[in-house]
Amino acid sequence: MSQVRVRIAPSPTGEPHIGTAYTALVNIAFAKQHGGQFIIRVEDTDTSRTVADAEAKIYESLRWLGMEWAEGPDVGGPYGPYRQTERRAIYDTHIAELMGKGHAFKCFCTPERLDTMRALQRKKGQSPKYDGHCLKLTADEVAAKEAAGEPHVIRMKIPTEGECTWEDGVYGKVTIPWADVDMQVLVKSDGMPTYHLAHMVDDHLMKISHVLRGEEWISSTPKHIKLFEYFGWDAPKYVHLPVLRNLDRTKLSKRKSPTSISWFERQGYLPEAVVNFLGNFYVKSVEGDEEVMDVAEFYKKFDLTAVSKAGPVFDLAKLDWFNGRWLREKLSEDEYVARVAGWAAHTVREGLKMARTRMVRFTDLPDWMGFLLKGDLKLTKESFAGLKTDEAKNAAILYHAHKAVDAIGAWEAPAIWDAIKGLEGTLGLKARDITGPLYVAITGAAQGLPLTDSMALMGRAMCRDRLRKARDLFDWQPFETKTKMEEEHGDNA
Ligand code: GLU
Repeated sequence: MSQVRVRIAPSPTGEPHIGTAYTALVNIAFAKQHGGQFIIRVEDTDTSRTVADAEAKIYESLRWLGMEWAEGPDVGGPYGPYRQTERRAIYDTHIAELMGKGHAFKCFCTPERLDTMRALQRKKGQSPKYDGHCLKLTADEVAAKEAAGEPHVIRMKIPTEGECTWEDGVYGKVTIPWADVDMQVLVKSDGMPTYHLAHMVDDHLMKISHVLRGEEWISSTPKHIKLFEYFGWDAPKYVHLPVLRNLDRTKLSKRKSPTSISWFERQGYLPEAVVNFLGNFYVKSVEGDEEVMDVAEFYKKFDLTAVSKAGPVFDLAKLDWFNGRWLREKLSEDEYVARVAGWAAHTVREGLKMARTRMVRFTDLPDWMGFLLKGDLKLTKESFAGLKTDEAKNAAILYHAHKAVDAIGAWEAPAIWDAIKGLEGTLGLKARDITGPLYVAITGAAQGLPLTDSMALMGRAMCRDRLRKARDLFDWQPFETKTKMEEEHGDNA
C-alpha cells in the first residue's frame, strides 16, 4: 500500500465540537497503526458561516487533547496551502477541466423555479432533486444567458441508470442507486466551489489515501466517487464513522448535550480521560479496569470493527467514570494537585478581583465565588421562585437567552450585555427584569458578582450549558420554533 495519509477537514464555523475531536482521534489512531501521516485542512469556502477565531480555537482545543498533526494551515507542509479559501485558483482550473470534458454544466434556474420544482416533487411523494432542466440548453442558449448576465451555478452530471457501489471501511459494501443522487452544485453563483468539489480535489492533490469522516457523508459519497472518475483519478478508501449520539440516540447536538470541547476543559475533565473515553468506542472486548488506558496503548488496540454502527452513545456518566479513574490511578499525587490547581488558578484570580468590593473575610470566598468553580448548580424550579418575574416570563427569558448565546460574537462582557439588551424587544421586558432569572441560572442566586463579567470569565460553553439546564426546568418553547428537523438532526459538526 502506498503511504497512508489521512486528514480531518473542519469548517471554522463555531466552537470546536467534540465530534471533531472524535474524528481526529480515529484518524490519528489509523495513521499511527499504518505508519502514516495525519493532516488538517480547513474547509472555509462557505464564508458566510466562517467565525473569526474559530480556526485558532480548533488548534487550541485539539492541542489541549494532546493531538498533533504533520501538516496544516498553522504548521505548513508540502501540499499547502491547507486553507481552502487560499486555493481558489486550483479549483477554478479543475472546474474548467470538468466543463471541458462535458461532466458538468451551467444551471441558470432561479431559486423560485427550484422551490416550485421541489414543492411539486414533495407533493408527488418524491425526494427533492434537480430535474435536469438546464441540461437541455443548447450552447447558444447558454451563451445568450451568460451575455445577458444571468447568474448561474455549475452542477455535476449524474448517471441516469444503475447504481454506485463501494466497499466502506466500517459499513462494508454500500450500494446507492444513481436515481437517488442529486446533480450536485459544484460552484456557487459567486464562483466559490462547494465542499463537494473542493474537498475531493484537495484529497487528491494532498495524496489522501483514506477518508475517515462522519457517517452523514455516506449519501454524498457516490457524487465524490463519480467526480474522481471524471478526473481519471483513483478515489481514496472511504471509512465512514458512526456519529456520536445523545442518550436518546439522536445525533449529538448542543441543544441536548454539551458538545463544545472547551466545556469539557472548564468542567475539569482531564484531556487524557476525554481521549480515553472517545477512543474506547474503537477498542474490542475490554472491560472494567482494562478500559483505562493511555493513548499509546489505545493506538495499539485501536480497531475499526469495534465501533457500533448504530453510533457510540455519548454518556457523560461514563466519561465521569474515566475521569475519576484517571485522577486516582493514572496521575501521581503531585500531578493530581498541580492539574487541579492549574485548572482553578485563572478563575480564582479573576473571581477574587471581581469579589473585592464585596468580600469581608476570606472565608466569604466560597459564598461569593463557589458558582465559578462548580459544574452543575443543581437548580430546581423553586430556585427561581423569589424573583419579580413569574414562571412564564422566566421560562421565556431562559429559552431566548439560551438561543442568543451562539449569536454573540466575541465572548466578552459588553457584547453579552448587548445581547441581553437585545432581548428586551423579543420579550417585551426591561433588561433589569431579564437579568433576574439569568442570575439564578448562571450563579445559582438572585444576586452576586457582576453577571456579564462572570459570564465572560466562565466562557460561552459553560454559560450555554447552565442556561440550557435552567431552560429545561421549564417546559416551554414558542410554538413556531419547534421544528422536527432540528430535533432529529441536531447541529452539524
Ligand atoms: N468540512 C466537512 C465537515 O466539516 C468535512 C467532511 C469530510 O471530512 O469530508 O464536516
